[in-house]
Amino acid sequence: MNQVDVIVIGGGIVGTNVLRVLSQYQLKTLLLEKNTDIASGVTKGNGGVVHSGYDAKHGTLKAKLNPLGASMYPELAKQLEFSYENKGTLTVAFTEEELETLKQLLANGLANNVPGLRIVDQAEMRSIEPQVNPEAIGALYAPSAGITDPYEVAYACAENAINNGAEVKLNQSVTGIEKTDSGYKVSTQDNTYETRWVINCAGVYGDEIAKLAGSENYEIVERHGTLMIIEKAVGFELNATLFPVPGQATKGMAAIPACAGNIILGSTATMMEDKEATRFTKDEASELFDSASHLVPNLKRENIIRIFTGLRPVETHSNNDFVIEEDKEHEGLYHAIGIQSPGIAAAPAIAEYVVSLINEKHELIKKSDYNPLRKGLIDFSELSVTEKQQLVEDNPAYGHVICRCEIVTEGEILDAIHRPIGATTIDGIKRRTRAGMGRCQGGFCQPKIMEILHRELGIEFKDILLEDVGSNVLLEDK
Ligand SMILES: Cc1cc2nc3c(=O)[nH]c(=O)nc-3n(C[C@H](O)[C@H](O)[C@H](O)COP(=O)(O)OP(=O)(O)OC[C@H]3O[C@@H](n4cnc5c(N)ncnc54)[C@H](O)[C@@H]3O)c2cc1C
Repeated sequence: MNQVDVIVIGGGIVGTNVLRVLSQYQLKTLLLEKNTDIASGVTKGNGGVVHSGYDAKHGTLKAKLNPLGASMYPELAKQLEFSYENKGTLTVAFTEEELETLKQLLANGLANNVPGLRIVDQAEMRSIEPQVNPEAIGALYAPSAGITDPYEVAYACAENAINNGAEVKLNQSVTGIEKTDSGYKVSTQDNTYETRWVINCAGVYGDEIAKLAGSENYEIVERHGTLMIIEKAVGFELNATLFPVPGQATKGMAAIPACAGNIILGSTATMMEDKEATRFTKDEASELFDSASHLVPNLKRENIIRIFTGLRPVETHSNNDFVIEEDKEHEGLYHAIGIQSPGIAAAPAIAEYVVSLINEKHELIKKSDYNPLRKGLIDFSELSVTEKQQLVEDNPAYGHVICRCEIVTEGEILDAIHRPIGATTIDGIKRRTRAGMGRCQGGFCQPKIMEILHRELGIEFKDILLEDVGSNVLLEDK
C-alpha cells in the first residue's frame, strides 16, 4: 500500500495552490486528478479576473480571502513566472440609482480592506479607460485588481510543488474514501493509498467526494456561465476590466483585458444541476455581447473568435460563501469546496487558510531547503529581436514557428511537453503555450502539434486527444 501524509483531491487552481503550500512542509504529499491534465475543470473556463474583493459580503470567508488572495498575486506571479497584470476594475454606473449602489459597494469594500477603492467621476473614469461608453456617469475604481491566466497559475503551482517533492498523478479518479485508525484509505481505479489527511478540492464534484467519505452535509449545484473571446486585432486595448453595476447572483457581464491581449467578455449566470453542462444558447451569447458592448461600444460581433462556458460550484448550505473547513463528522478530512467566483482571486489565500487548519492542530514542520521559485516558459513572441536571434542560435527549435496566429515556436511546445506535469494533449499544449488560441483557432497548427506529440511521446495518431478521454481527433491512424 502507498503511504503518504496528505492527499489533495483535484488539480484545479485551488488544489494546485494547496499542493504548493503543503510542499513547504516536511510531508509526503500527493495530488490526484481524474482528468488527463490539471487545470481542466472550472479553472480552464473563466474570466481570469483577480477581483479586488469589494463586493464579497463583509464577514464572509469570501470577503476575507478575496482581498488577501489578490494582494498575494503580484509576488506569487514573480516567484512562479506566470502572467499577471495589475489592471484595476471599473464598475460603471449609467444612472444616479446605480451610483447609489456603487456607494454601498464602496462601503462594503472598505470594510473588507480593499486598498485604494474609490468612486471616480466621468472624467477620471474616461482617463483611466477611454473606451468606456460616454453615456456612463461614474465608476467604482478598484486599482488593486488584476488579471491572470488561471491555468498558468495552476501549472506553475503544480510544477513548483513537484520540484519541492510533491507528487501529482493524472487520470486517477478518486472512487473510495474509507476511515482507518490513522487517517483514510483513498482509492482510485488503479491504486489505494493510506493517508493521514485528505483535502477535498474537487470543484463541482466536491459534494460527491464528501459523500464517498460518508459525509452527507454538502450539496453543490452549478452556476453556468458563458464567455466570449474577442480577437486581438480590434484596434484598441482595454486598460482596466469594466463591469456593470452587479445584480443579485454575479458581478455582471464584464469586458476583460486578458493577459494575452484579447478582450474576454463574460459571463452569464444560469443555475443548473448538471456537473458537465458545457452547452450555451444563441440567446445567452447575444445577451452577453449586448451587455458588454453597452460598456464598450467599439466591440464588434465579427471579432468574436470563440465562445465557451464554465460552471461555478455553488454549495447550497453556505449562503453563497466558500466552504473551507474540517468535516464536522470526519476528522482529518478537509474541504475547500463551493469555490465559485472569486475563486481565482482567492486561491492563494484559500490554500494558506486550509493548510493553516491542519497546522493549528498538528504543528507542521517547514523544510529547510524549500525553493519558492519556478522558471516559466519562454514566450518567444515577447522577446526582442536580439533575444530571439540568440535563442534560435542556442536552440534551433525556437526558430520553427508552429502557430502563426500567436507566434508559438516548436521550442516552446517541446518545453511544454517535457517539463514536470507536461502537456500530453492538444489542449494541454494550447493552454501552456497559446498555440491554437489565435484567429484560426488551431486550423493551421493542430496537425503540426499532433506530429510533435506523436514524435515526442510516442502516442499513436489515432490516440492523440484534444483533451479528455474520448476526445480523439482522428478515427484511424494516418
Ligand atoms: C464563467 C465563469 C467565470 C469566472 N470568472 C472568474 C473570475 O474572473 N475571477 C475569479 O476569481 N473567479 C472566476 N470564476 C470562478 C473560478 O473559475 C473558480 O472559483 C475556480 O476555478 C474553482 O477552482 P477549483 O480548483 O475549486 O475547481 P476546478 O478547477 O474544477 O478543480 C477541481 C478538480 O477536481 C477534479 N476532480 C473532480 N472529481 C474528482 C475525483 N473523483 N478524483 C480526482 N479528481 C477529481 C476535477 O477534474 C478538477 O480538475 C469564474 C467561474 C466561471 C464558471
